[in-house]
Amino acid sequence: MRRLFRRSMYWFLPVVIIPLGGLLVMQYRTLRTLEQKSVSAERNWQRNAIEAVAADVDERYRRDAEKALALAHVQLLSFGTLGKHFREHPVPGARRFFTLEFNDKHYVSRMWSTNGIETKGHDWSEAEAIKLATMGWSMAYKWGRVAQPALQVDERDRKHRIILRPVVDESMRVVGVAGVILDAKWAQKKIAGIAAGNFKERFPKRAMTVRVGDDLPRMTGMGREFITQPLGFVFTDWRVGIRDACASPEELAASSFRHNMMWSGGAFMVLLGAIGLAGGAVARQARLSQMKSDFVSNVSHELRTPLSSIRVFGEYMRLGRVTKEEKIREYGEYIEAESRRLTQLINNILDFSKIESAEKNYRFCATDVVELVEQTVAGFEMPLREAGVTIAFSASGPPPPPLQLDKDAIAQVLVNLLDNAVKYSNGNKNIDVTVVSAGDAVRISVRDRGIGIPALERKKIFDKFYRVGSGLVHDVKGSGLGLSIVEHVAKAHGGHVEVDSELGAGSTFTIVLPVRTADGAVTMTQELA
Ligand code: ADP
Repeated sequence: MRRLFRRSMYWFLPVVIIPLGGLLVMQYRTLRTLEQKSVSAERNWQRNAIEAVAADVDERYRRDAEKALALAHVQLLSFGTLGKHFREHPVPGARRFFTLEFNDKHYVSRMWSTNGIETKGHDWSEAEAIKLATMGWSMAYKWGRVAQPALQVDERDRKHRIILRPVVDESMRVVGVAGVILDAKWAQKKIAGIAAGNFKERFPKRAMTVRVGDDLPRMTGMGREFITQPLGFVFTDWRVGIRDACASPEELAASSFRHNMMWSGGAFMVLLGAIGLAGGAVARQARLSQMKSDFVSNVSHELRTPLSSIRVFGEYMRLGRVTKEEKIREYGEYIEAESRRLTQLINNILDFSKIESAEKNYRFCATDVVELVEQTVAGFEMPLREAGVTIAFSASGPPPPPLQLDKDAIAQVLVNLLDNAVKYSNGNKNIDVTVVSAGDAVRISVRDRGIGIPALERKKIFDKFYRVGSGLVHDVKGSGLGLSIVEHVAKAHGGHVEVDSELGAGSTFTIVLPVRTADGAVTMTQELA
């Protein structure tokens, strides 16, 4: 079973790690491709976004200029209302509104500030620009031409960019012109504001820097450059540009690659950890079931051997084959010793099952621990004396006060330790039992001169069913329960078990029991810690 499990552990690597590793490599490659694609996708997105924003700016100018400049013939004549009209229909970045009314001699020109106040005393450079922009319409009037009243932009004079619209009468003849002169600086701020506001409205989740002007390169956004788009209606020599406020498309893609890779790596580790945990659980389960099956076979053996001896000796005596008194005593002692071992084994199994199901109850009463140990040792040694077992008992230190102990449990623990000392004695059956009282604790030690315990096994031997699986121990049968019961009982008394061992030289097991004061408080320092 164990070998099968170990072999399956060898399969674990190729079956789990290699596919998972392959998956991670594939994931890496896919994410790298995605990184490259997302750079161009990000650029395309920025290009589309700025196109949309530039179109919005154009549309805004067209709409606002149309509203401000679409005048009927009658409106052109009613001077009193025009100022109010222009004030109520602003155009972004406008410096001045003007109207021209053509007549037979020449024309009447009038100007308004953006807040609708008529301005006298014209700026000559503005007047020149207006003349230049409206010359064609003046000719159209003279020749009596009909015209579609559409918006027209004149940017020949860069300082006085003009949007204008002819005013026509009912028969679509040109009778005048309405226009607006734009202020470049003012307009630049306005357009940047419109573009930024527009961008935020369309893409609320992206933080982008927006710029407008004639100094933006035609660049399509390498690295952290602006991606730009020319304006199409007015300021056609200007471009609007955007770029991510924090990172270039390459940096964005690289950071998302790192982010994705981190998640994939994390998921991989979690998966590996989960598989490792599952593997560990399976290994533990397999080990436990192996130990259980060993336990069943060991216990069966432990039961069968003394039972068959008892049966054989019993039969001899019944059939009257042994008549010598000396032999009868010997067989009787043998039967007694074997049945005591059986009782101890069964007690251990019953105790273990109670401990496992948390049904084990202890009956503590004030006990003279030295006396208890001495009696138990004597009871254990007597039947084994003939087999060469000698147990030297000694007590040192000031006599301890009566301790609150469960006598049966402590005696059973001691018998378990003595039994192990005999079982693993390797021929040297001289055992020492000492009780040392050291103020805040009483230490009961059982020392043998047997096979000893390898350092790596010293913790595990207290696990249920655990038996050291090498060397001489193979020849000695046991249930693997003795020490786990010892540890449990020691803990139930507020104490613990210590083991000191040298391979080939012997082991010393010490039960450390705290001395409690009259009010039940534990005085042992380890216990308080
Ligand atoms: P077992 O019934 O196998 O003796 P225990 O729980 O009492 O079960 O002991 C667990 C294991 O610890 C034993 O199988 C043995 O390998 C080791 N062990 C216990 N006591 C001693 C000892 N005095 N000397 C050497 N090894 C010991």
